Amino acid sequence: MVELSGVSKTYPGGVVALQDVHLSIGYGELAGVVGPSGSGKSTMLHLIGTLDRPSTGSVRIGGYDVSALSDRQVSALRAQQIGFVFQQFHLAVGVAILESVADGLLYSGLPARRRRRRAEAALHRVGLGHRLSHRPHELSGGERQRAAIARAVVGEPPLLLADEPTGNLDSVSGEAVLAQLRGLHSAGTTVVVITHDQQIAASLPRQIVMRDGRLAFDSARPVMTR
Ligand code: ADP
Repeated sequence: MVELSGVSKTYPGGVVALQDVHLSIGYGELAGVVGPSGSGKSTMLHLIGTLDRPSTGSVRIGGYDVSALSDRQVSALRAQQIGFVFQQFHLAVGVAILESVADGLLYSGLPARRRRRRAEAALHRVGLGHRLSHRPHELSGGERQRAAIARAVVGEPPLLLADEPTGNLDSVSGEAVLAQLRGLHSAGTTVVVITHDQQIAASLPRQIVMRDGRLAFDSARPVMTR
């Protein structure tokens, strides 16, 4: 699903955020990315999410070499293959969550009625079937994050990327969000989640540790440890 080879990223101004990262994540994996602040976790997730391009090296998503695609083709790849969940929920203010989730299907070509029906089903799956017409400020943090997950997966992308999805939540709400990610993983979605929570990371099937822009440890390749 994800193949990074020799990936480096230097930001304008000379900050080297990633250095020579080789990483392969198979279809259906659930992997946690940990590491100190500034170690390159978000940069790597952005590159995997095709939101940015590497300075050197190659990023392949679902078999497609991102550097070989035009911006338009990259947007299409992202729309079809990748869902995003961030620490800040990014739900439209004052808009019913059913509408926000249905908007996740705007570019699907589905007619409005079917977009709403799919959105309703996605909200039911995250336990928010009774909150469809609620606006974000009428929901708890945990409910908002579950709505954000519903929006990320309403188009059933094979790859879900989550950047500190439990970072703003208490432990009970965080556990509920994690349960959703585990459920998606069980259903076959590939999930990559950045977390600063060691306990969460340890509970995931695969752990990837970043340090100073490098892959410091990967539980799938423990002999490569350095
Ligand atoms: P993490 O997610 O592990 O906290 P980041 O990937 O956000 O790490 O950041 C890695 C390094 O790159 C940091 O030194 C950060 O300051 C720098 N950085 C991140 N984004 C940008 C940017 N848009 N422009 C310049 N430097 C950046």
